[in-house]
Amino acid sequence: MSQFMVTGANRGIGFGFVQQLLARGDRVIAACRHSGRASELNRLSGEYPGHLKVLPLDVAEPRSIAELVREVEMLELRIDVLINNAGMLIPGEAFGEVQARSLADSFATNAMGPFLLTQALAPRLAEGGKVVAISSGLGSIARTSRFGTPSYNISKAALNMAMRLLGHALAERRIAVLALSPGWVKTDMGGETAELEPARSVANMLGVIDALAFDADAVGRFLSHSGEVLPW
Ligand code: NDP
Repeated sequence: MSQFMVTGANRGIGFGFVQQLLARGDRVIAACRHSGRASELNRLSGEYPGHLKVLPLDVAEPRSIAELVREVEMLELRIDVLINNAGMLIPGEAFGEVQARSLADSFATNAMGPFLLTQALAPRLAEGGKVVAISSGLGSIARTSRFGTPSYNISKAALNMAMRLLGHALAERRIAVLALSPGWVKTDMGGETAELEPARSVANMLGVIDALAFDADAVGRFLSHSGEVLPW
């Protein structure tokens, strides 16, 4: 049994992680913006007493990150696997109309938040533990072949760099760091026409996360939900 932390845990892929982790016996700290309103998560706390802790976190707010870390310290929790899942996508940005605010908000949520949260939680991460960020194929510079969702793509490329750097920073403690693409998933973000059910994507990603082992020659990896190496 491992202690996980999942951000953006109230819906979509994040909630899927919480469901599957609890069902297989792991412990989860589920972090989300409005923990009081996360009714599905709070229902699960009743179903899995002692295994699920729901804590508030807005990843785009450094003060909120500091409060979460303080709470984790007070509870003397040690985290084996941190899953930075919270993310946002602004659709429909056309070239010529991209706003500073969209770029800044996307960066704060998708790149700055996961980096700062991981940095702040580093002392609470178990030696030999794992840090995962739910990235996207749209963050791959090598695979970009058209102008689409620029604020999202730029912020996910920045997230990938953040993970690579964290891989180096945490290598001394043999913590494995992974940027992981979930595929195209049926959630509020992915939409109804997406290819994968959240449960399938999450099950695949848990397979990749479970198999992940620290490798001093490959710190900070970028993989798909089926374990394929993705080009940065
Ligand atoms: P959803 O839009 O369904 O859910 C997004 C989650 O992130 C929600 O829980 C949301 O919380 C949370 N969130 C957003 N901003 C913040 C914030 N500032 N602080 C804390 N939580 C926040 O998206 P998915 O479940 O599909 O996406 C999960 C991850 O997977 C994201 O990182 C996304 O980029 C990535 N991804 C998804 C793909 C897909 O096809 N669905 C494809 C590739 C990557 P709230 O309810 O409060 O808004």
